[in-house]
Amino acid sequence: MRIDIITVYPEMIEGFFNCSILKRAQDKGLAEIHIHNLRDYTLDKYRRVDDYPFGGFAGMVMKIEPVERCINALKAERDYDEVIFVTPDGEQFCQSMANDLSLKQNIIILCGHFKGIDYRIREHFITKEVSIGDYVLTGGELAAAVMSDAIVRIIPGVISDEQSALSDSFQDNLLAAPVYTRPSEYNGWKVPDVLLSGNEAKIKEWEMEQSLERTKRLRPDLLNK
Ligand code: SAH
Repeated sequence: MRIDIITVYPEMIEGFFNCSILKRAQDKGLAEIHIHNLRDYTLDKYRRVDDYPFGGFAGMVMKIEPVERCINALKAERDYDEVIFVTPDGEQFCQSMANDLSLKQNIIILCGHFKGIDYRIREHFITKEVSIGDYVLTGGELAAAVMSDAIVRIIPGVISDEQSALSDSFQDNLLAAPVYTRPSEYNGWKVPDVLLSGNEAKIKEWEMEQSLERTKRLRPDLLNK
């Protein structure tokens, strides 16, 4: 799949996509992530992409023209399944939305900055509005990075052991079981015996019990979903 991120601060997130699993996904050709500098799309001679808000409010507002030119340039190259705007008043991002979006071919994520974007962009270009939580960030870049990470890591083949993504928290509305590594005893703190038993059936049963117990205790709301 392909994700196009539109931002006024590409440098905020470029490094993020060049590390670890997201880098490997791109190297393997399983995901393409392209970051576009909105300033490259304005015709303004000073490359300005924001202006004062009508009504005398505080803060600066992102202008329509560069956003329209950027989205149209991308759409001229390929069809997009969604043009997403990240915004605190959008639908809350969650695992099931990440699962759905990971099945798409091409998506655009538009990052706001400053006071926000001219509302007409939202009315005329955006197909989906997503929030990553009830707090306000300085810009949408981290939200776009959070979404892209969650979406890309579950594309089949990205994580070598596919089971590993499926047994993570929130798949099936359950929290994950604890994990341990060597040594089996440290400072007298022992790894649960069952994990050293080699008995696969017993280990699976333990994993499910732990998931259920932790979900009941820490996130009972998930069990009602
Ligand atoms: N004035 C706006 C907030 C602007 S914050 C309001 O009160 O709703 C600047 C930009 O950061 C936003 O346009 C949005 O793209 C991004 N942003 C901030 N918080 C976010 C969140 N919780 N989820 C997704 N994007 C967010």
